Amino acid sequence: MTDFVFQPAPPASIAIAGSDQRFPVRRIFCVGRNYAAHAREMGKDPDREPPFFFTKPADVVVEDGASIPYPPDTENLHHEAELVVAIGKGGRDISEAEALDHVWGYASGNDLTRRDLQNEAKRMARPWDWSKGFDRSAPCGALHPASEVGHPSKGFIRLTVNGEVRQDADLTELIWSVPEVVSYISRSIELAPGDLIYTGTPAGVGPLVPGDTVTVEVEGLSPVVTTITEKA
Ligand code: MN
Repeated sequence: MTDFVFQPAPPASIAIAGSDQRFPVRRIFCVGRNYAAHAREMGKDPDREPPFFFTKPADVVVEDGASIPYPPDTENLHHEAELVVAIGKGGRDISEAEALDHVWGYASGNDLTRRDLQNEAKRMARPWDWSKGFDRSAPCGALHPASEVGHPSKGFIRLTVNGEVRQDADLTELIWSVPEVVSYISRSIELAPGDLIYTGTPAGVGPLVPGDTVTVEVEGLSPVVTTITEKA
């Protein structure tokens, strides 16, 4: 046994719908601006950009039902409803035709963002990490195996805050499809089992405040509900 100087943290993991088993999370990849209307609301032309990515640490993932204290260092915490892809089989240079064979399952997710820090990072040409990869910034619902739900390429993706609809789109509006995203990432970074991919958010992102309950729901998948509490 390796003689660590202290006990390493157990791996981050997420629940699997209808199972006592858990899915260990290795890394979290996120796609930027993958719905045209959202790219436009961020002031960008959706037609002129190849896909781009950022990452979050694995241990910022939180499950359905979590209460999250309003994070420090921001006055503009935003929600982003996203379809989450869970990789079960790793690989590099994965073709689009074979990409779905590498997908274990799917979940509803929320790419929480400190928008003010992100806007400042863009303005100063600095990294996005601090705006995206903060503690508890990746709510993720129970994972549904592709063997049960298939590979969703259409269906609603919806986000409500206290029951009011804020984001309402369809997976058909994704600019880069799941096979394209998996293939694209694998040509730059070797994918591994346990990797999650947050596939981007549709239009309608907006602020959350303490007391809000935010729900992301993707058709055919379990919702992920998160409550924002006062600053810790
Ligand atoms: Mn996002």
